[in-house]
Amino acid sequence: MPHSTPKLNAFPIFIRVDGEAVAIVGGGDEALAKARLIGQSSATLRIIAENPRPELLAFIAETGANLVAAAYEAVQLEGTVMVFAASGDEALDRRVARDARRLGIPVNAVDRPELCDFFTPALVNRAPVAIAIGTEGAGPVLAQILRSRIDQMLSPSLGSLATLAASLRAAAEKLLPKGNARRRFWNEFFAGAPARAVEAGALSQAHDAATALLLSNQPASGHIALVGAGPGAEDLLTLRAHRLMMEADVIVHDALVPEAVIAMGRRDAERLPVGKRKGCHTKSQAEINALLVELGRQGKRVVRLKSGDPLVFGRAGEEMAALRDAGIAYEVVPGVTAAFAAAADFELPLTLRGVSSSMVFTTGHDLKGDSLPDWAKLAISGATVAVYMGRSVAAEVAGRLIEAGLSPDTAVAVVENASLVNRRRFHGTLADLPSLEARADLSGPVMTIIGDAVAGANFERSEPLAAHRNEGASMAATEGVQQ
Ligand code: SAH
Repeated sequence: MPHSTPKLNAFPIFIRVDGEAVAIVGGGDEALAKARLIGQSSATLRIIAENPRPELLAFIAETGANLVAAAYEAVQLEGTVMVFAASGDEALDRRVARDARRLGIPVNAVDRPELCDFFTPALVNRAPVAIAIGTEGAGPVLAQILRSRIDQMLSPSLGSLATLAASLRAAAEKLLPKGNARRRFWNEFFAGAPARAVEAGALSQAHDAATALLLSNQPASGHIALVGAGPGAEDLLTLRAHRLMMEADVIVHDALVPEAVIAMGRRDAERLPVGKRKGCHTKSQAEINALLVELGRQGKRVVRLKSGDPLVFGRAGEEMAALRDAGIAYEVVPGVTAAFAAAADFELPLTLRGVSSSMVFTTGHDLKGDSLPDWAKLAISGATVAVYMGRSVAAEVAGRLIEAGLSPDTAVAVVENASLVNRRRFHGTLADLPSLEARADLSGPVMTIIGDAVAGANFERSEPLAAHRNEGASMAATEGVQQ
């Protein structure tokens, strides 16, 4: 890894508070805010305040918290597991912090980080599940934003589901061997029928579904998901792709899928690179098919991760046929194909009213024969053409399209490493396209888009292809001599 993760100065832990007392010193708003926060736990609150505000008194009456209505003294802290100095009075807060420390009780002083042994997080509460967010004071507002985002993501019934899980834990440990079988049970529990029943509020049905799942204990049956990883940026992975990667035993991936995307998978999933990048064929397609069948027979949950969309120049057809023949269950999860990522990077409308209403996905590798493939005719009739793996055939593609009648002035957009931070954009015309072949400065995957709709793109951040036109021309000439 090129860079190491920065270190945390405050490490999150969960402190046991059931049956314990927590002291809050103060009678104003700060004390009330802390009381509300700690009031989300089963701790007994001991509020030490000589003159509590009416709101605090109301809170105490409502929750049954203990009130020590007297001037502060250190002895009042004794027997508590946490102390909050929340008086709003600096001198008093300092005294409370000092006393707590002397008594060996961790202390938090509101708005005085230098006096704090611990910080309180922004909290998403789905008891018994808790998500604590801390920023070491760098961004309380950020913590609140994150809190509300996470809160929206999680079902309100998550706590009930976790409680049901806890009640089944001992039985699961007794009935299911550690490892695959147990993990699969829990995956199915949290994502399958029991979770759906809890979500619908049908707790007894959820219990029955979980028990049935526990008792069925089928020998694990393999499953292969052919998953599109998208063009390279981690956040263009779909939620479904991510979920399957989190549940996978094995991730079988192509060389074109970046490490950062693979790292989104379950940490202890086995990772098998199978190459398939120009010049480094680690495994043949037949070997990959055989590997997937073998993993399926072993009962593994496999994610076969392919760049872009698995059904676009991904050889998924062969893998699906092999899995079907072997009777192994599989599913396909679409991904953002490179043409779409490249178009987005260029703000390029792939269909444009009155200009182009159809689009072609091609490789240009079928241009070798005498007859013009159908897609070339479509290009001439105005379709937008996305050329995959087109760098090495750029001159051929341009030459044949021009020969067939497409104007040499037709707009062309080229993106290397679409969606990634190191992407490069180039624009030009069909006449400039051959220069692509000769460029030694392009080492990433390249997507070429041709057609009148390309003229609608944003060329502010792209370099002209024409700068390298002569290289292409001279190379095409050399090729001509050799033929
Ligand atoms: N299944 C993939 C395509 C695999 S073929 C998809 O749907 O995108 C490999 C070709 O895809 C590359 O030669 C290149 O033309 C294109 N490609 C893949 N990722 C790319 C990216 N990030 N930027 C530009 N082109 C890309």
